[in-house]
Amino acid sequence: MNIRLRQSPELPGKADLEARACIVLALADKPARWPRSLPWRASILHHYQLLNKPEVGTLTLPQARGIPLSYTVLAADSPPFVRLERARRLVAAHHARRPGDMALVLAGYSPAEGLMVAEALLSAALASAAPLPNFRKDHRPSRLTRLYLYGHSEPDGFRRSFCEAEGNALARRLAMLPGNQLSPADYLSQLRELAAVHDWQLKFMDEAALARRGAGAFLSVSAGSAHRDAGIAHLQYRPARRRRRRVALVGKGICYDTGGVNLKPARYMYGMHADMQGSAVALGTLLALSRLQVDFPVDCWLALARNDIGPNASVPNDVVTAVDGTTIEVVHTDAEGRMVLADTLALARRTRGLALLLDYATLTGACVQALGSGYSGVFSNRAEWLPALLAAGRNCGERIWPFPMDADYDRNLESDIADVKQCSLRGDADHILAARFLSRFVGDVPWIHLDLSASSCKGGLAHIPTELTGFGVRLSLHVLLDSVLNDI
Ligand SMILES: [Zn+2]
Repeated sequence: MNIRLRQSPELPGKADLEARACIVLALADKPARWPRSLPWRASILHHYQLLNKPEVGTLTLPQARGIPLSYTVLAADSPPFVRLERARRLVAAHHARRPGDMALVLAGYSPAEGLMVAEALLSAALASAAPLPNFRKDHRPSRLTRLYLYGHSEPDGFRRSFCEAEGNALARRLAMLPGNQLSPADYLSQLRELAAVHDWQLKFMDEAALARRGAGAFLSVSAGSAHRDAGIAHLQYRPARRRRRRVALVGKGICYDTGGVNLKPARYMYGMHADMQGSAVALGTLLALSRLQVDFPVDCWLALARNDIGPNASVPNDVVTAVDGTTIEVVHTDAEGRMVLADTLALARRTRGLALLLDYATLTGACVQALGSGYSGVFSNRAEWLPALLAAGRNCGERIWPFPMDADYDRNLESDIADVKQCSLRGDADHILAARFLSRFVGDVPWIHLDLSASSCKGGLAHIPTELTGFGVRLSLHVLLDSVLNDI
């Protein structure tokens, strides 16, 4: 993304705005307190009253060569999610005209409030400009390359927001690629390019390497594919001067999920090219952390496979052995995410000095049923973290909701023939059973599991304008960089 930002702590003059292709305006308060020096104040006020105080108003400024302006009155204490949603709608008002530049204007906020509102507007503008796959003949990508912020200025030029936007855009770009354009092999070649550019180490354990390690859970999923390109990618970011704590990010990367021999019906299979979004979010988070040059090492483990149907595909009642020796009875081949993650988590937890293991997966329909697509589910083997994680979701605008994972849920996973069942055919609380299943492979390492029910949301979510949201990059940066958890 090649977007430049110019900032000014002052309100713009008319001449400043007349040079812009479009204007986004956030006003702190009721009209009586709108700054007198706000350009076209009377026109905007007239429009605001005429339309009976719209949440988002759009007008064309006749005095200013017909420049389009979108505006909102947004109280500084609005919840962060509302702030981001409003920012998305303000920016979306200009989308069809494909502006090359955009003025972001804040009026009436204190410096601390201005920072939060500016961050929302900027994040929405960056999210809207992300170059994303589209194969239509008439597709015309965003032309936005310059942003002009008035009414607030940050010394570092919002570096973190830019890095976060880049990470989120990477996650969405990969998730949007159709299955025939992002096989595990394609994914790996993209990882090789990224690793070269960003100076990450990359190791790839292919099926043969995984067989040597005894990763039978992972291999029970990849066995159905006609291609032998599945495997676990391990990327490492190493800072020049490192702190001792290490963080591992783990992601589910099922490049297409047919369900396997328990084949999905059409309605539920459509969209399953995005069943790798957990891995893309882990990767996007790695990219953002690496661009920010954080001072702690980050390991990123991506489980890349397709869940296909074929002569070698697993069937229910198969018993397989995971990398840590746990025997698993296969119950439903569409519960493949927890199988590939079992081995990947078991490998990732062996990292020495691990302060946090964080995994991301589009794991269960049960989580979507419980929360819809506006929230993602969060689980942890450190129950005392859950209040802080709930608050973290609220504060950054990528909202998460905690679920219990008490040990007695395990009675649903008892098998007569193996250590554990993969899942239960009863289907209730499957998101909790999946988390219980995964927890076996994590042991006592501090662990957070995100079931990404908010990975796909019609009409976009928060500041993100696309249905596939890349949910999790923003949340992860907040959790990892803003002292959300005392012990991390
Ligand atoms: Zn599945």
